[in-house]
Amino acid sequence: MRTGSDDVIDRLTDWHRRLRAQFPIITANPGSAYLDSAATTQKPAAVLDAVTEFLTTTNANVGRGSYPWATSTTARIDAARERVRTALGDNTTGSSVEFVDGTSHGLRAVAQDWLADQLTDGDEIIVPFGDHEANLRPWLDLREQLALRGIRVSVLAMPVDASSGDYDHRALPSLVTARTRFVAVTHVHHVFGVDMNVHRVREVVGPDVPICLDAAQSVGHRPVSVADLDVDFVVFSGHKMLALPGVGAVWARNRRGPRFAPRGWEGTPNTAGIVSMAAAFDWLDAAGLAEIGAWTTALSARLTDGLARLPGVRVLGCQRSLTADSPVQRRESLVTFRHTAVRSDDLGFVLADEGIMVRADGHCQAGRESDDHAVRVSVHVYNTADEIDRVLAVVRRCEGMRS
Ligand code: PMP
Repeated sequence: MRTGSDDVIDRLTDWHRRLRAQFPIITANPGSAYLDSAATTQKPAAVLDAVTEFLTTTNANVGRGSYPWATSTTARIDAARERVRTALGDNTTGSSVEFVDGTSHGLRAVAQDWLADQLTDGDEIIVPFGDHEANLRPWLDLREQLALRGIRVSVLAMPVDASSGDYDHRALPSLVTARTRFVAVTHVHHVFGVDMNVHRVREVVGPDVPICLDAAQSVGHRPVSVADLDVDFVVFSGHKMLALPGVGAVWARNRRGPRFAPRGWEGTPNTAGIVSMAAAFDWLDAAGLAEIGAWTTALSARLTDGLARLPGVRVLGCQRSLTADSPVQRRESLVTFRHTAVRSDDLGFVLADEGIMVRADGHCQAGRESDDHAVRVSVHVYNTADEIDRVLAVVRRCEGMRS
C-alpha cells in the first residue's frame, strides 16, 4: 500500500540525488549506509571547502589585530553571527548569538551565566527528566550550587505522555505557579524522534516565563523559527547540522530578563568551526530546509511503518504510524526500537556487519538504566529509501535469531 511518505520520496528523488552526490564520505563508500546522523552528521563538500578556503587565505585570530587577515576573520565571525540569526528567522531587535562548543556547553552556559543570577530562595524551574542528559545536568547542578549559598530552588520534572514520548501538556498546568521562573525543553526528542510541540509549553506557562530550547536535533534538519516558537534561548551544535564538531551557538532573545553574556575570559573561539557553520546554513538554505525536513520525515515514516509490520519489534515513543503529513504529531529524522528476540547491542553488530551504521546503546537519555539499550536509526539529507529498506531486511531476518 502506498503512503504519503512514498509520494514525498518519489517527488524529491532527483533533488535528493543531486544533494547526496555532494557528500564526499558518502560517495566514497557506496556500500555503506550511515544512519547515525543524530549523533553527528556528514559534511557536504561546500562546508569542507569553506573551511579550507578560510584556513588557506585569511586565517587569523578574531577580535585581535588590525592587519587585513585579522580584520577579515573578525568580519567573517560577525557575519556568521548574523547568519545564525537569519537561519533562525530572527527579526527581533536586541537578540544575540554567542558561539559555544556545542549544545552541552551552551545549555550549561545558560544555567551558569544567566539563570544562576535570576533565581531566589523558593523559586521553581521545570526541566525535562527524560530527554538528553545535556538538558538535565546543568539545571540539577545549578540547584546544588545555589543550595550551598542557601538558595533553595525546586526543580520539577516536565510531565511526559508515556505513550507518545511527547510532553504531557494537559498535566503541565498543575506544575506552573507564581514561582515558576524558567522552563527547559527539547525541540525534537533524540530517542523518540517526535516534535515535542513546544509552542504549547508557551501557551501553558504564559508570556513571562523564559523558555530554553535544546534544538540539537532540529536546527539544520528542518526550518526552525524563533518567531513561531517564542522561546528565549535556542541552543544547538554545529556537528549535527553538517558543520564541524566543537562549535555551536546560543541564540538569546534577551527580552525576558537581562542580556545573556557568557561570563569570564572568552578565549579564542573555534573560528574554523564557526566558518563551517555559516557555510552549512548557506548549503542547507540552497538545498531547501523544508524539503530536507520532508525527506527525512518521509524516510523515518517508511521505517516506522516497516517496523510496525514486523513481529517482535517495538518502536519507542509513539506507536502510531507517523506519516509525513500526520496532523497529530510529526516524527522527525530518527526512529528508536527494540527487538524482543535479539539484544539491541547484537542487532547493532549485525547491522554493522552489513555496512549499516546505527547507534545501539542508552543514547545519553536522562533517567535511563545503563543497560537499557535500544537501536536508533537516524537520517539526514544524504540517506536513501533503499538504506531504510536494508535496515528492515536485516531486522526481518532477526526473527530466526535468539540472543
Ligand atoms: N541535546 C540533544 C537533544 C542531543 O541529541 C544531543 C547530542 N546527542 C545533545 C543535546 C548534546 O549535544 P553535543 O554532544 O553536541 O553537546
